[in-house]
Amino acid sequence: MAKVAIEARDMVITYNKGKSNEFNALNHVSVEIYPREYIILFGPSGCGKSTLLYSMLGGLQPASGQMLVFNEDIYAYTPAQLNKYQQSTIGIVYQQFNLISSISTLDNVALPMIFMGVGKADRNRKGREMLRRFGIPERLEDKLPTMMSGGQQQRIAVSRALVNDPEILLADEPVGNLDSISAEHVMDSFQEINEKDRKTVILVTHDAKYLPYAHRVIYMRDGVVRRIVVNPTKRQVKRVHPGETIVTEIEQLARLYPYAEPMELKVKSVVNFATQKIGFRELERLENATLHVLKGEMDRPMLMDYLMRSVYQDGVGLDHDESEKIVQRIFSIVEYSKDVEKFRTERMNDGMFMHQRKFIDNILDYIASEVGTVMSADVKAGLKTAIAERVGGIIVGDEFAERLVLPLERGGLSFSEADAYKISRHLEKLIAQGGYVIRANELLGAHS
Ligand code: ADP
Repeated sequence: MAKVAIEARDMVITYNKGKSNEFNALNHVSVEIYPREYIILFGPSGCGKSTLLYSMLGGLQPASGQMLVFNEDIYAYTPAQLNKYQQSTIGIVYQQFNLISSISTLDNVALPMIFMGVGKADRNRKGREMLRRFGIPERLEDKLPTMMSGGQQQRIAVSRALVNDPEILLADEPVGNLDSISAEHVMDSFQEINEKDRKTVILVTHDAKYLPYAHRVIYMRDGVVRRIVVNPTKRQVKRVHPGETIVTEIEQLARLYPYAEPMELKVKSVVNFATQKIGFRELERLENATLHVLKGEMDRPMLMDYLMRSVYQDGVGLDHDESEKIVQRIFSIVEYSKDVEKFRTERMNDGMFMHQRKFIDNILDYIASEVGTVMSADVKAGLKTAIAERVGGIIVGDEFAERLVLPLERGGLSFSEADAYKISRHLEKLIAQGGYVIRANELLGAHS
């Protein structure tokens, strides 16, 4: 299959050419639409959506530019080629249905097959098949379309548009005249045509509630394409490049977490808002800065400056106190994680693991000041041992945390759950930064 289904190249479409009211309804519009995409042309009334749509049908000669469909310039077609294109490559559904009111429903649907040279029996068979598929019962097929509801008429029109099995289906405000229930029914049909029949669907609407149906939304204004918005909740046909289209936070999150489900992205968004002062873009910047800190390329004043710089100047936009707290935390982790590292290397060198008290003392002092609980000498000594064992990899994180909350008389340290959580969290951060911790069994094995 061709790589691109439809390519508008720098299209200019002018109404009333040469007259005083000459007007460019499309002003150098370029878009690429891929096979099996569901595209919505969106924008306020008069922005040029329908003009772009009808230009794809081959009926609006551009003043300049080209419209390529499966790599063929449809405005270079002979009349016979154009006819064939309109009958078998592309189908269209209009807001006003445009059914022929003097012939039966079935004949309306069968009509496009006449031009393809299909015999009557086959036409009727195929026509009935399409009507059944789109929910028009047999008893209605001999009736005139005007006898039916708007929703039914539009489903007849959809049947007609698809009866020759075109690759591309165009729709101009197809539910603009329908009540909300019929509208949903018809919109679901388009989705099915796109997903099940794998047709390229291009739909014009000015109603934002239909945008979630599309893979991509081409947003137009004043005859130009203002932006193309990717719907992050749909698996894309076209490859999306980072930064190409950013509109919602969810879309941004989809780039940060490409394997997350849409629901997971929504969860992340809510949790971020509930727990953080800064959004994902700022978090990404903070991560970048932290990388520089960990590599030793950024010092405290530089980080401080970056955190306080406004988000509009690519900073993180935090106030002085918050920035100071974050700088303090990041640099503490970096500094004390070195003690974790040293404890490990020293121990590895001389084969003794309770020896390097100095490093553990540093870590203990840091954690005690962060947690802010007063500890007795006994508790301090016990905590020091537990930290040394945890840093040394004798015990795992859960065992460490358990020992903190266990009562003194049972060999624990009697910390409250809240304090135990804080202590464990700080220590695990240091260990994570300080390098690989040997698992208890490896260490025990080595010493037995
Ligand atoms: P939309 O579908 O976004 O409402 P259209 O493509 O129908 O917009 O129209 C774009 C602009 O071109 C509008 O200002 C409209 O008035 C004008 N226009 C559309 N069709 C014609 C026409 N046949 N002759 C002159 N002007 C037209």
